[in-house]
This record gives sequence, structure tokens and C-alpha cells, in this order.
Amino acid sequence: MRLPGAPEVAYRGDSLHLEDLSVSELARRFGTPLYAYSTASMERALSAYRRALVGRDHLICYAVKANSNLAVLQWFARQGCGFDIVSGGELERVLAAGGDAARVVFSGVGKTRAEMAQALAAGVLCFNVESVGELEALSAVAGASGRSARVSLRINPDVDAKTHPYISTGLRGNKFGIAHTEALAAFRHAAEQPGIEVAGIDCHIGSQITESSPYVEALDRLLDLIETLEAEGIAIPHLDLGGGLGIAYDTETPPDAEELIRRLLERIDARGHGGRKLLFEPGRSLVGNAGVLVSEVIYVKPGESKNFCIVDAAMNDLARPAMYGAWMRIVECERGQGEPQVFDVVGPICESGDWLGRDRALAVRPGAHVAILSAGAYAMSMSSNYNTRGRAAEVLVSGDQAWLVRERETTADQIRGEHLLPGR
Ligand SMILES: *Cc1c(COP(=O)(O)O)cnc(C)c1O
Repeated sequence: MRLPGAPEVAYRGDSLHLEDLSVSELARRFGTPLYAYSTASMERALSAYRRALVGRDHLICYAVKANSNLAVLQWFARQGCGFDIVSGGELERVLAAGGDAARVVFSGVGKTRAEMAQALAAGVLCFNVESVGELEALSAVAGASGRSARVSLRINPDVDAKTHPYISTGLRGNKFGIAHTEALAAFRHAAEQPGIEVAGIDCHIGSQITESSPYVEALDRLLDLIETLEAEGIAIPHLDLGGGLGIAYDTETPPDAEELIRRLLERIDARGHGGRKLLFEPGRSLVGNAGVLVSEVIYVKPGESKNFCIVDAAMNDLARPAMYGAWMRIVECERGQGEPQVFDVVGPICESGDWLGRDRALAVRPGAHVAILSAGAYAMSMSSNYNTRGRAAEVLVSGDQAWLVRERETTADQIRGEHLLPGR
């Protein structure tokens, strides 16, 4: 059976492996629920972007929110990547992981003045500004600190990324970016603001995009704007096309990153912009297929209309199914353990929305391990403590080595910072 996603996640005989390590061995060694990530898979995904961009002035800014574990960030920093951040907290993570602030772009619709001051002091590469209000606030913060802020205006190009409505961000009705019809005025305004230096233009049209055409459409709109602005004497040094490239969870067939970038470069060259500095902000496509969530079966509960496979991972560990109705593949860590039955795979949380997969054929018994595949992105980073469940441990795998990169959270960790009332 060919599994979707990364070749680093495959059966050897009847045992699911992540690179050279048996996933059920990892579960026994580190406990469950457990997130495990393959560095070889991350490397393969990153090199697809790199191959297409050889010889170009470019920066790949890994989108921290996809998976913000410090060791994952450190790994990307060691590869020379920059980072796309959306909060002051993410900036602190990048710096703690050894990332270079000069390679950080700061995105997000709601940057506070405190976050702006923090990022200016750290010396980020640029602010991806999403509104005129934000531009004015940034100008004031820069002025007060005697610094100058490099900005790129995030344009909402009004193209349909054809993805889930919650992760579609480049349509007129979305909260993101400056409407493309207002972009020229916003850039003219930016060019005149004290403490502001125009560094670029950007867009990010959504996530889990499985076609090239929305990117090409967005690119054309941005190039139109660049041409108009530069004709007026407002230079736009870099072009940032955001992230959003999808991965295979099941039968999706997104373009390969190399293929997508080549197609965009052809268009960029054809329109005479070949020398412009290019930025990309991929998240999911770099880490999504690199990760698995490993869980132990607690009970198998036959029902009148449904059988339930109750596992020790839940919606607090992995929110995507509950939040977006996302389909993620669930497989046995050891195959060939009897006849498969059809189950809803659910967690212990007191919500009917707490399911990880519906109608899945699995041959499992209590004590067996299952792996939820393609769980490297928007999985651990969206986890919570709902039901006072400690967050999962995380390991990074390379060949036959595994490093614990996040300890399992204890209840003491969770209640630290809470206080009882005084008196009695
Ligand atoms: C989330 C986000 C990304 C990354 O998106 P992916 O779909 O994970 O590639 C890039 N840029 C911005 C501004 C984002 O908000």
C-alpha cells in the first residue's frame, strides 16, 4: 500500500517506519500521544523550492505557525531560511532557536504597537502591512524609537484560491491585506510616511492550495501594481508571493513546489521582472507530510450503528478534523493484526466533535498503536489544554536517530501561573 505524502513514512514489512525507525518503537520509547517529524522529509520539501530558485536573489521564509517547535525552527535556520511570523511570541521563538531577525518578515492583521516596537528593536527584514491604520501606527512607533521600518504592503488580489473557506485569504470578503483596488493609494501614502521605507509588495492567498492558476493570477495582479508604482518613481525592491501550497493528505494532487515556482518564474521573466528579489513564505508544504501523530488505542467500543476506536490522542492534540472537517489518513503502526473493522476514531474529550477520522477500516486492539499521517503542520501548533490534557511530546527523527524536542506537558506545567483566592 502506497501511503500519501512523504516516502519517509512507509511500511517496512508490517511495521510503519519514519525514516529508519519503527513508529511503534518510538511510541514505546517516548509514550503517546507523540508527534514525530522526519528531517529527511523536511529537507526534500525545502530542496524542491531551492532547486527552482537556484541563481535567483531570493529568501524562503518558513511560516512559523505551521509548526513552531524550537528544534524545527533551528533546523530551518541552519538551512539558511528566513521566517514568516505572525506574533511577537513567534519572533521570540525564532530568536531562541538561533534564527536571524534580519531574515524575518512579520505578517498578520492585528500587530500591536508593542509587537511593532519589539520587532523594530530586533531588526526584522520587513513588516507585511495589512491596512492603512497599521501603516500609520507603525510610522508612529518607528518615529518614537528613532528607527525606520521597512514595509511590504500585503495586497488582497481578490483571487479564488479554491480551498477551504477558513483558510482562503485572498478574496475580497476576507479580513486579510489591502484591497487590490486600494493598493496604489496605500503605497503612495506609505512612500510619504515618516519612518517608513517601502521594501516590497506581498500577497498570501490561502492555504492547502492544490492548483497553480490562482498563484499565476495573483502574481499578474502584483506585477501590474509594481509596474504602475515604479513608473511613478516608487521602487518596490522585493516581491513576496506568500505560502499556501497544499500537500497530499489523501488523493489531492498539488503541484510540486519546484514545478509551481518554475511556472511563476517563467511568468516573472516573461514580464521583465527576472532580476527582482523574490520571497516565499511556505509552511504546510515544508513540514506537513514530515509529521505523524502516534496514538495508542485505549478501547474498542462496538455500537449499534457505529464502532468506535477510542484513542489517547484527541481534538486538543489535533484540531484539524474538528475545526475544518479535515480528512487525515490513519493507519496501523503494525499491520496484519487480524481482520479490519470500520471505526470512527475518536479521542477521550467530552465533545462529539472530538473525532480524528470517520469510517476507517482498521485492524486494531486495545494497546495497539495507530499513526495519523501528514500531521506535521497545523497540528501540534494548534494544540490546546482542553479537558486539562497535557500537550503531546515531540521528537525529531533523522535516519535511525530520534531526539526528544519537546517534553510531554505535565499538569503542574498547566496550572503554573494560576492562583487560588485569598482567605478561606
Ligand atoms: C499561514 C501563512 C503562511 C503559510 O501558509 P501555508 O499554507 O502553511 O504555506 C504564509 N504567509 C502568511 C502571511 C500566513 O498567514
